[in-house]
Amino acid sequence: MRPYAIAVVALIVAAQLPGRALAQTETLTSAPIADIRYDVTYDSATAIKRNIGVVMSFTTRGPGDVLLSLPAWTPGEYEIQNFVRYVMEFAATEGSAPAAWDKVDHDTWRIHATRAGQVRVSFDYLAMTLDNAASWSKPEFAFFNGTNLFLYPEGQSADFPATVVVHTLPSWRVATGMRQTGPNTFAESNYHDLVDMPFFVGRFDIDSAQAGGKWMRFASYPVGSVPNSSRRMVLDQLSRIVPAEAAVFGEIPWSTYTVLQVADSEFNVGSAAGLEHQNSHFDILSNVVLGNPVLASLYAHEIFHAWNVKRLRPAEMWPYRYDRPQPTGLLWISEGITDYYADLAEVRGGITTAEQFYATTTGKTEEVSNAPPVSLEDASLTTWVKPLDGTEDIYYPKGSLAGLLLDIMIRDASDNQRSLDTVMREMYQSDFKKGRGFTNDEWWAAVSRAAGGRAFTDFYTSYIDGRAAFPYDSVLPLAGLRLMIDRTVLPNLGISSSLDDQGRRVIGVDPSGNGAGAGVKVGDYLLSVGGLDVGSDDFGAAFNSKYAAMPPGGTIPVVIRRGTQQMTLNAKANFRTSEATRIVALRDASPKAVRIRDGILKGH
Ligand SMILES: [Zn+2]
Repeated sequence: MRPYAIAVVALIVAAQLPGRALAQTETLTSAPIADIRYDVTYDSATAIKRNIGVVMSFTTRGPGDVLLSLPAWTPGEYEIQNFVRYVMEFAATEGSAPAAWDKVDHDTWRIHATRAGQVRVSFDYLAMTLDNAASWSKPEFAFFNGTNLFLYPEGQSADFPATVVVHTLPSWRVATGMRQTGPNTFAESNYHDLVDMPFFVGRFDIDSAQAGGKWMRFASYPVGSVPNSSRRMVLDQLSRIVPAEAAVFGEIPWSTYTVLQVADSEFNVGSAAGLEHQNSHFDILSNVVLGNPVLASLYAHEIFHAWNVKRLRPAEMWPYRYDRPQPTGLLWISEGITDYYADLAEVRGGITTAEQFYATTTGKTEEVSNAPPVSLEDASLTTWVKPLDGTEDIYYPKGSLAGLLLDIMIRDASDNQRSLDTVMREMYQSDFKKGRGFTNDEWWAAVSRAAGGRAFTDFYTSYIDGRAAFPYDSVLPLAGLRLMIDRTVLPNLGISSSLDDQGRRVIGVDPSGNGAGAGVKVGDYLLSVGGLDVGSDDFGAAFNSKYAAMPPGGTIPVVIRRGTQQMTLNAKANFRTSEATRIVALRDASPKAVRIRDGILKGH
């Protein structure tokens, strides 16, 4: 998942509902079912009602209670959403007769089967939520997530095969990452894969290109929202991102990857949000973000998730449980380090320059320093409740910076022979490929191995479990980098100015400020401060160089026009200091540090 506020307005998070109590579900076990098929209908008739029709059919072995549940969340969006809220007109039949049913909890239905044979349950799903984890419709288009529509039998193995058939107008399209087995017919061999492949149905554009030797499809709604020039840019970006990311792991784990993108004015202005899946991802954008090159960062983040979190995943989320939160203290690895690799994929793929990489990284240091101190583990665990203290998304930038620091320390300890890439690749092989999630101990053991046995206990205690400020000053120079703080002295005289429609500089005056004390009044027009043009772009730098070393007790000339008269008023000096940070490449870095810096930027 990655929420972005690209312009000015931050992503607004939907209200929460509580998840189901743990003890309640432990005891639920459905009678076994087989031959599971889901028929999904979205056409001009259901579109009018913003409904998606769902029929689940299956066979029972004999009499018994079939317990069917709908997920409470979609993996990747760490938020309980209770999709059962949108279910209407639930019904069940056995053969051709109505079946007896009731509910055993808020999102579990109990259907009483009286004999072996076929059972059908049906409902209408209200597709009205413009959210990556949800379902939404327009008159000629809908997207849906399997977590919203596909009921699963409680207490049974997730390893059941299922078929999905989409019923829609002949002229409308269907796009999904699911394996196609016939016209608008798709199949998967287990429930985890089934609900990890969102669908587009209706009118939308679709295009494809090769990326890293595999096909990449780009589906975009509404029709025409991504014109040819933008589409070429997107496909070019994707073709650069995939090989750079695949090089970290040594393989591309999909046969075809699909980028699903919706742009709509209903979405928060200036925002974009993506949600990852194993062979696709789904982005929702504000219209004003369309065509913005910065979207490459979103694509790179979501695509990297195909390895990191969809496959290599914290043990607490292996396997996914759909009825409850699965908190983990390792989300900073799944999200923050994914964000680090998104930046690396862009610079390694030539989408951004080294300078842009430094600027992006600087921005992350500022995000962290502007947020309350919180440990990466605590922030990871807390995301499920969307805290309001300013730390909700901090494990993205802070986890990304932790990734950079670890990368540098591993490269420094191994003279650039090994890196964070080594750790990611080893964990992918030793955990995901062996069919399990990874633990905190396994992560730090892999980091230590890559660093030639160096201990990371103190680093973990201070910066991952603890809230200490990151050691930029000692670690960044190992890669020939430094976080500089530029301090600029500016006048603080209690006067402000803005241009009126005739190009005159109108003055605002704080009555208690030194400007007012010198006689500056509302109605005056400002000509200069300290002999400098306040409208000039380099006013700050010029003022700083002229006055930063001024001894106490001096005055600053303020030239104004009052009526027809030009006057120079001498204000008692008063200053404020503004601070700006930037990461710079050191010119006098050692050859080893240069090797490390090049290794990070170029991926070797
Ligand atoms: Zn993410």
